Amino acid sequence: MHTRVDTIVVGAGLAGALSTFWLSKTQQVLLLEAQAERSGASQIAAGIVNPFAGLRGKPMWRGLQALASLDTLVAEADAQQHYNQCGVLRPAVSRVQVASFRAVAEAYPDHATWMAAEAVCARYAGVSAPYGALRLYGGGLVDTPGLIDAALASAMRQGAAIKAGARVVSWKSAAEAVHVTTHDGQRYTASRVLLCLGSGYVAFETLRTLNLHRTKGQIVRVRRPVHYDLTMPLSAHGYVVPIQDDLLVGTTYDRDFTTEAPTPEASARILRAASAMVPGLDRLNPLSAMAGIRVGVPGTRLPMVGSLDDRVWVFTGLGSKGLLFASLLAQMVPSLLAEPHSIPPEIRVTYANSKHLSR
Ligand SMILES: Cc1cc2nc3c(=O)[nH]c(=O)nc-3n(C[C@H](O)[C@H](O)[C@H](O)COP(=O)(O)OP(=O)(O)OC[C@H]3O[C@@H](n4cnc5c(N)ncnc54)[C@H](O)[C@@H]3O)c2cc1C
Repeated sequence: MHTRVDTIVVGAGLAGALSTFWLSKTQQVLLLEAQAERSGASQIAAGIVNPFAGLRGKPMWRGLQALASLDTLVAEADAQQHYNQCGVLRPAVSRVQVASFRAVAEAYPDHATWMAAEAVCARYAGVSAPYGALRLYGGGLVDTPGLIDAALASAMRQGAAIKAGARVVSWKSAAEAVHVTTHDGQRYTASRVLLCLGSGYVAFETLRTLNLHRTKGQIVRVRRPVHYDLTMPLSAHGYVVPIQDDLLVGTTYDRDFTTEAPTPEASARILRAASAMVPGLDRLNPLSAMAGIRVGVPGTRLPMVGSLDDRVWVFTGLGSKGLLFASLLAQMVPSLLAEPHSIPPEIRVTYANSKHLSR
């Protein structure tokens, strides 16, 4: 089989699926995914959307724009049922953080309110926030697999072709086109390829030269305590996310992992840490645990988008903010591919051991 399209997207996680959604509005797109759709980190993302992340709670890079992009995506892909715009509660963990959080609440009164410890205690049963908490109104909780499925269904209606079980093993740029080969010997041709491989980049020597690193995260599912009725995510000592009758509790940040599988030790550590926010969590038995690998750009905590040559592009490095960064950048991908000079300098391709910026 020999197919020629405008763009081949590789990888159906958040980066690849949302890029396919936006690109297929104006182009012929073929999406190749090694396994089932969204089988990488996106499959297990806890679903928190918080543009005021980080220790100080300041807005992340283009965070409010990213929130608007997510809203647009949800509306256009008819994915409203997968996004609960409930906001996020961020208990402070120290007096220093109290000062930062109060400043954020003052600077962004439309987005955040400071709540004293007593107010948190009175309002949210089962939550412990001895220093008080920042109540964020934007963002909330996304069912990530549901959002990806909705984006892919819309992309297919727009004409995109999607092939699961197609692991890309190589690509080769030529003067007129790029040729992509999958594990079963199938060859596909396009004007360009957009690699959205998540942690799968390590399989390719050329991509291992990029300034990327992999971090293992784990989440644990426990039965929701009867007294706990908070319906929004909690984020401080890790996070706690309500999901049906259960809670998802995460996460660990492990760079030197020896197994990609979840471990009981990490589950115990996660529940111990989160019990500072929800007392008693450390006494619950895990119902299940999942681990995944997210990819980040060392030193920037920003994603990476750009070309390796005229026809081969990468979109990766979403880190722990996959939902916001993927929403923001996937919407920009069609114009970035057309005008590489418009790529914001902060997110251009960089290589390990070098500050070199590509085109
Ligand atoms: C435990 C955990 C919790 C998280 N919680 C949150 C959260 O609450 N909120 C948030 O915003 N973010 C969260 N994240 C981060 C988020 O999951 C990631 O940033 C995001 O999913 C990365 O998306 P991606 O598309 O870059 O990569 P992935 O989701 O890993 O997708 C890559 C895809 O490429 C495919 N692939 C790889 N190699 C090939 C190949 N050779 N050929 C074809 N296909 C290939 C893979 O099968 C996979 O489907 C969390 C991450 C982890 C690990």
